[in-house]
Amino acid sequence: MREYLKFYIDGQWVAPATPKTGDVINPATEEVSGRISLGSAADVDKAAAAARKAFPSWSQTTREQRLELLLAIQAEYNRRLPELGEAIMEEMGAPSALAHGFHVGLGSGHLQTAIEVLREFKFEEQRGATRIVKEPIGVCALITPWNWPMNQTTVKVFPALAIGCTMILKPPQLAPYSAQILAEIIHAAGVPAGVFNMLQGSGAVIGTALSTHPEVDMISFTGSEGVGVQIAQNAAPTVKRVCQELGGKSPYIILDDASFAKNVAEATAIMMGNSGQTCSAGSRLLVPQSRLQDAIKAASEAANAVTVGDPRGNFAMGPVVSKGQYNIIQEYIIKGQDEGAQLIAGGPGRPEGLNKGWYVKPTVFVTTNDTVIAREEIFGPVLVIIPYKDVEDAVSIANDSLFGLAGYVSGEDGETCRAIARRLRAGWIGINGGFDFHGAFGGYKRSGNGREWGEYGFHEYVEIKSLLGYA
Ligand code: NAP
Ligand code: MG
Repeated sequence: MREYLKFYIDGQWVAPATPKTGDVINPATEEVSGRISLGSAADVDKAAAAARKAFPSWSQTTREQRLELLLAIQAEYNRRLPELGEAIMEEMGAPSALAHGFHVGLGSGHLQTAIEVLREFKFEEQRGATRIVKEPIGVCALITPWNWPMNQTTVKVFPALAIGCTMILKPPQLAPYSAQILAEIIHAAGVPAGVFNMLQGSGAVIGTALSTHPEVDMISFTGSEGVGVQIAQNAAPTVKRVCQELGGKSPYIILDDASFAKNVAEATAIMMGNSGQTCSAGSRLLVPQSRLQDAIKAASEAANAVTVGDPRGNFAMGPVVSKGQYNIIQEYIIKGQDEGAQLIAGGPGRPEGLNKGWYVKPTVFVTTNDTVIAREEIFGPVLVIIPYKDVEDAVSIANDSLFGLAGYVSGEDGETCRAIARRLRAGWIGINGGFDFHGAFGGYKRSGNGREWGEYGFHEYVEIKSLLGYA
C-alpha cells in the first residue's frame, strides 16, 4: 500500500490544511493500491503564495543556473527510473514493458529536450533599435491527466523551470503516484523553495481554485475538451493565459501500395497501445475502398494478436484506467453495433478469461465518418476503419472532424505522403512512423490552442517585452 499524504509546498512536505484522503484503485485488480491526501482551496492559497514569493529570484537566475538544476534533476530522475515505472504500472495499468519503457522514457526525453532547448534558447533579439526580450510569464498552474502521466507532467514542468517560471502541479487523482515521485526527484535535485509546488486533489476543487486564483498567471492544461472550456471560463476574469491540450479523433491514412497490409497491421497495433488511451491516437483508419477486404483481414488479425492481461505479466495491453472509463468505452462499443457499424474484432465485454480488472477487448469496426464512433473520442482500444475513394476523398474525410490534434500517413511514395500531410488540418502529423521530441505537439480546432514539446513548448511560458529605442 502506498501512502502519499503530504503535499510539496515551499520546499517542504506539508500536511493538507484540512485532513482528507482518497483511495487510489489499481485498475488491474480493482483493489485499493494506496491513499493520497485531497487538498482544498486553502492549500492552493499556500502554494500560490509560495510560488509568487519565489518568482522574483527564480526569474532572475541565469540560464546556467537553471541548466544546473535540470542536470541535477536528470541525475535523480535516472536514479529512480524503476520506481517510476512501477508507479505508472500500478496507477494506470500500463504493461510492465510499456511503463518501464516508453512511459518513463517520454519523461527522460522531455527532460533531455528541455536541457538542449535551454542551452540554445534566444531570450533576447535585436530588431533595429528595438530589443525583444522573452521573460518568464510568472506563476503557472499545471493540470494534467492520467493517460501518460509522466509525459504530461514532464512536458510542462521542465520547460516552465527552464524559462524561469514558478509553478503548482496538480496531477490526476486516478494516477497520482508518479507525480509524487517526480516531486521527490525535483526536491532531491535542490530546487529552491517555492519554485516547484505539487498538491493532490480533485479537479473540481484544486483545479477550480487554481483556475480562478489571482496569483496564478498562466494555466497549462491537458485533458478533456469540457474541462478545458471550464478552465478557460474560470480563468477569464483574471485574464490568465490558458494553454489547452485537449482530445482528438485523429485520421491515419494508408496508401494503396505493396506495404498496405503491413501498414494497416502496424496502425492497428499502435492504436491498441496504452489501451487506446492516447490523445493523439490514430483512431480513424482511412483505407482505399478498393482494398477494404485486405484492410479488414490485416486489421482483425492484428487486433486479435494483441494479448491482453495483467500489467505484471508479458501482455501487450493492460486494463483501461478505471471503471468509469471501462463503462464509457463499453457504451461506445454498443453504440457502434446499434449504429450498424461492422464489427470485425473484439466487441463488448471483457476478453475471455479475465473476470476482474478493467480489461477491454481490442475492438475494430468498419463504418463511415458520420457515425458517433467515428466522430467522438472513445479513449479506449477501439479503432474505426473508414473507406475512401481517392486521395482527395481521404483528405476530406480526415479533415471532417471537430478535432485536429494529430494525423498519420503511411505509404511507399514519400511525395504523396508529404503532400497529404501538408493538407491535414492538425498539429502533429506522423509520416511513416516519424517521431521527434523537438517537434511541436498540439491541436488545431477543438483539440486545443497550445504547443508543447521542443522549443515551442517553451513559448507557452514566455511573455514578450519590447524595449523600444534600446540601441
Ligand atoms: P479530464 O477529466 O479533463 O482531467 C484532466 C485533469 O483536469 C485532471 O487532473 C482533473 O482532475 C482536472 N480537472 C477536472 N475537472 C477540472 C476543473 N473543473 N477545473 C480544473 N481542472 C479539472 O481528462 P481525463 O479524463 O483525465 O483525460 C482524458 C482526456 O484528456 C481525453 O479527452 C484526452 O484526449 C485528453 N488528453 C489530451 C492530451 C493532449 O496532449 N492533447 C493528452 C492526454 C489526454 P481529477 O483528478 O479530478 O480528474
Ligand atoms: Mg475526468
